[in-house]
Amino acid sequence: MAEEEILREESVTVVGVAEAGGPVPAAAPEKREVKVGVKEDVDDMRRRIKSLISRALMVGLNTPASTIVEDVVKKTGVVDEKWVHYTTVQVQNNISKELFARVPKSERVVFIPHCLRNAKACRAEVDEDGYHCRKCGACVIAKITAECEKRGMKWYMVGGGSQVVNIAARIKPKAIVGVACYKEIQLASDAFKGNSAPLHAVMLRKSGCVNTEVDLNELIEALDA
Ligand code: SF4
Repeated sequence: MAEEEILREESVTVVGVAEAGGPVPAAAPEKREVKVGVKEDVDDMRRRIKSLISRALMVGLNTPASTIVEDVVKKTGVVDEKWVHYTTVQVQNNISKELFARVPKSERVVFIPHCLRNAKACRAEVDEDGYHCRKCGACVIAKITAECEKRGMKWYMVGGGSQVVNIAARIKPKAIVGVACYKEIQLASDAFKGNSAPLHAVMLRKSGCVNTEVDLNELIEALDA
């Protein structure tokens, strides 16, 4: 089983916290390690990361993505690799944000990983279009598919990145919302490079092979972005 990566309440670790938008300190951040453990702190960190990225892109349109990630990481003081990954994905989403927003919701296609299923209870049938959720309610996919359908979005529950690439080549989506672990998001970004369909990715907050987790609010934000 692949190593699990969890992005949730108990795993927010910051070393000091620089002021959002303030100058990057020349010296290393204060070495006091602070562990915080409530959901508000996770949400607050996400908000700060997103706000710093928006500001960085506004003032430095031609700044390389890696420089923006480094700058935001310094300013927030995050040390966990998963937060660096989260920041990287948010920077990538921001770069294609305007193109993505121009595509009507009904023309966006959503790819959902099957690892979010309740593997024990799931009776979804599978074919070349992936798994067909029966909406039994035993996992979050019933809610995700309902949110997609409410917006007229086509969705696919897929077994992996290569299936995403195959389906996308066949149906030619105008914009893609993809839920995946960091590694799969980067593989998809490479695979879709040069493709006219902008990708908005939502990183799993708990990755792995089975029973993974996604923040439903973040996913809904992505559907509406
Ligand atoms: S809600 Fe859908 S994906 Fe989840 S267990 Fe039921 S049939 Fe499977």
